[in-house]
Amino acid sequence: MAPRRKKIYEGKAKVLYEGPEPGTLVQYFKDDATAFNAQKKATIEGKGVLNNRLSEYFMTGLTNIGVPNHFIRRLNMREQLIRQVEIVPLEVIVRNFAAGSISKRLGLEEGTPLPRPIVEYSYKNDALGDPLVPEEYIIAFGWANQQDLDDIVSLALRVNDFLSGVFYGVGIKLIDFKIEIGRVWDGDFMRLIVADEISPDSCRLWDIKTNQKLDKDVFRRDLGSLTDAYSEVARRLGVLPTNATNIKPTLIN
Ligand code: UDP
Repeated sequence: MAPRRKKIYEGKAKVLYEGPEPGTLVQYFKDDATAFNAQKKATIEGKGVLNNRLSEYFMTGLTNIGVPNHFIRRLNMREQLIRQVEIVPLEVIVRNFAAGSISKRLGLEEGTPLPRPIVEYSYKNDALGDPLVPEEYIIAFGWANQQDLDDIVSLALRVNDFLSGVFYGVGIKLIDFKIEIGRVWDGDFMRLIVADEISPDSCRLWDIKTNQKLDKDVFRRDLGSLTDAYSEVARRLGVLPTNATNIKPTLIN
């Protein structure tokens, strides 16, 4: 599809275009999937449509409980209007159960409940493979200050409580997730808001009864169809694309 707007940035799963008004952007969700720092790549039909819908659903829910975020409105199957932010160069990870890198690092079996939600940070840098960084580094290098970090933890824990409850209600355990945070200015006053996306690309989601994985680990670990997994999440939440010409009809019934 030929872009109608000026491209601002292209990432692994999304493209950002200039928005219709100053301070806005259009976020386009691609079907591309990457894992292991983009060493594994594929195009997965329908993923972008599902993630556009799912991110809309979660961001709208967050707005409704007063958690500030970049989402303004969905424009079409693959695009949403968002607030332009200055991204804090951190991946903010919240963990409720051990999985992935924390399991490896600490020798914890995947699925082990953690004593409390753990918030950790990776420095957003593809060339370095997004290394885990302590608060000390973040403050010393000026990526965020202590006040920002306090606000980020508070946002991350509110997102965690909201998402955990929403997923629990549809029989899904929220193992962990990643969010990104953006800065916006009202005059001289800076605020931090939730940005980027919230979708099964950036969460670990396990069926409560069977522990079946319904997230990007299906792709990372070759566990079956990613579109089927994401469609199942969307179906349970009642979030299904209308007018879905780009995803297989059997997946949206
Ligand atoms: N995550 C992500 N993008 C990244 C790294 C991690 O969305 O670049 C998400 C990942 O999907 C999982 C959580 O953050 O839900 C924790 O990931 P972890 O640190 O265990 O890393 P991984 O095992 O994915 O390398």
